[in-house]
Amino acid sequence: MSQRWRSWISPAWRRGSLWSVLVLLVVALLAMLVWLAGLYEASQVQNRLERDVNEAVSDLHNGLVRNVQSLQALHFNEPSPNLWSAEAAALLREHRELIRLEWRDDAQRLLAHTDTPFRPPVFERMGRDMALPEIGQACTTARRLSGSAYSGSYFVPMTDGLGMEVMEMCLPLASGGLPAGFLVATYALPEMLSSLLGRQLKLNHEVSFTEADGTRLAIHGTPRRGSRIFTSQQLMDLPGTNLILRVDSWRAAPDLFPNVLTALVTALAIALVSVLALLGKDMRRRLKAERELAEALAFRKAMEDSLITGLRARDLQGRITYVNPAFCQMVGFSYGELLGQGMEASYWPPEFVSEYQQRQAIRLAGNSPPREGFESVFMRKDGSRFPVLIMEAPLIDALGVQTGWMSAFLDISEQRRVEELSRTSQERLQATARLATVGEMASLLSHELNQPLAAISGYAAGSINLLHDPQHARTELNADLLGALHRMAEQAERAGKIIKSVHDFVRRREQVREAVSPQQLVDAILPLVNLQARKLSVRVQVDVAPETPPVVCDRTMVEQVLLNLARNAMQAMDQAHVKERVLRLRVRLVRSVGRMKWLEFSVADLGVGIAPDVQQQLFNPFFTTKAEGMGLGLSLCRTVVEQHGGALVFEPNVPQGTVFIFTLPSGVMDTSA
Ligand code: ADP
Repeated sequence: MSQRWRSWISPAWRRGSLWSVLVLLVVALLAMLVWLAGLYEASQVQNRLERDVNEAVSDLHNGLVRNVQSLQALHFNEPSPNLWSAEAAALLREHRELIRLEWRDDAQRLLAHTDTPFRPPVFERMGRDMALPEIGQACTTARRLSGSAYSGSYFVPMTDGLGMEVMEMCLPLASGGLPAGFLVATYALPEMLSSLLGRQLKLNHEVSFTEADGTRLAIHGTPRRGSRIFTSQQLMDLPGTNLILRVDSWRAAPDLFPNVLTALVTALAIALVSVLALLGKDMRRRLKAERELAEALAFRKAMEDSLITGLRARDLQGRITYVNPAFCQMVGFSYGELLGQGMEASYWPPEFVSEYQQRQAIRLAGNSPPREGFESVFMRKDGSRFPVLIMEAPLIDALGVQTGWMSAFLDISEQRRVEELSRTSQERLQATARLATVGEMASLLSHELNQPLAAISGYAAGSINLLHDPQHARTELNADLLGALHRMAEQAERAGKIIKSVHDFVRRREQVREAVSPQQLVDAILPLVNLQARKLSVRVQVDVAPETPPVVCDRTMVEQVLLNLARNAMQAMDQAHVKERVLRLRVRLVRSVGRMKWLEFSVADLGVGIAPDVQQQLFNPFFTTKAEGMGLGLSLCRTVVEQHGGALVFEPNVPQGTVFIFTLPSGVMDTSA
């Protein structure tokens, strides 16, 4: 079979042709059944008819024999012709089938005769002599047989224009052992049928005497015609002649359901065809449902295969019952390897097995995991670890019963890498910003360092002069030198402190959260703030509320925020028309959400304030209005504050200027509420 030909025989076509063959076979079978049932029923009817004909023939025989006996009785006492006539008339009254009785002598001459009282004389028109040949034939045979004999039938026309078929019967008479004439009886064939046959047969059938070629000689019964006629005929053997008796029967309408068997078979056939039709309909519905199911499954599979989220289903014992391709790809194990794995899955890092088992036990005990998911670490087949975000939910079946757990996994290693990258770049940016601040401060620094250095060199020059002066008494000298050296040491220490404060500020280190008191934070930046304040003639006010709890923060970062804000505030007041230059640093305790104690830091100035168009872009990186500015300060400040969970806002100061406010968590719970 060629490939093309095979492709034609699609499953649908094959199924369709199978159905056609089945329907054809069933229809053929049913038609045959109906036909056979009809045939069987017809044969039954025919058999019954045959039996009826047999009975009819024997009825006729018996009737004729009885008649012969009655006729013989006429001659018992050798009656006179008159007496004979009277008895014969009585006999004719009883037997309608006999229409004439004659007593003839040996030479067949008529001695006496009687006609039936039921009809006008039959032989009136034809003349009795015309029948002599039949009488002669019958009597010759009768004499030969020494018993009754019959002539062939013949037609007798009558005066009323009709006629009838009659038959002669001749009975030889004997007297003292010698022939003593004949008794001739004329039978009317139609009356034989009506009088000698059983009533039942006559009711339901049409009975007739026929000739060999089928010509009907006498008929009795209802000439009804149905769609099917059953016929049976039988030869009736009489001494001297033969008669053919034919019985016709018919089947009542409707012809197709004449009896229970056929009706039953037909009903069964209809039921079978209906069942077949219903089955076909059901099959079509099933096929449609199957097709839809296949489409839905294909769609589901396509969806599962294209998902990048890993999916895993576990039963209530913690065994894996399903994983999607994304999960297999994530952990590097095949579907077959993962299926059925239980409380120690192959993608669990060995060092976490006990922790994960505990987590599973909690889950299996019926505790729901957090809705937002939780992070975990899995191991690939090659042994490498990677972080995953797991979201787990109970697996509920169609009946609403929990059959296990369904989990979704996201490989967050890439996300982690990006976060790490942005964190380091953020740190670098902050370091750069710090260096930039230092750069800005370099001139202030040199100015500030000048004072201690000038003082040191002054004290040093003074000390040298003292040592060169011969007038100076020894003890006095010692005391003066000691004083100068103390001053020098003080000034050197002051210079060292200035350098250290800058050094501390610049030093880049990893983010560490620690508890620091607000005062410490303010103190750390004050030397640097004072440097600039002195140059710009700004008065610095520090107002830290007493008994403020420590702040949990990255100290360096928060110090830089404070310093940036203070620097911006002082620069905003560096205008000729700003007469009163006050920088106020304030720390207050506020209560906030989550019953955690929060601290509020504010940096206020009496500067020029912020124009509305500047306000829009204030926190955009690299936005600045200053010639030497970098525009990174405020954007960094906001990032740092938000990283700590706080917020940075600004508002106009009263009577003028701006106040920047930011909040930080204290790490101490508010127990007063
Ligand atoms: P930079 O100080 O390098 O310009 P910032 O991000 O710290 O960068 O500040 C951005 C801009 O915000 C400043 O150029 C200034 O115009 C404005 N600004 C910041 N603080 C104040 C303030 N206290 N008063 C008025 N303007 C301010």
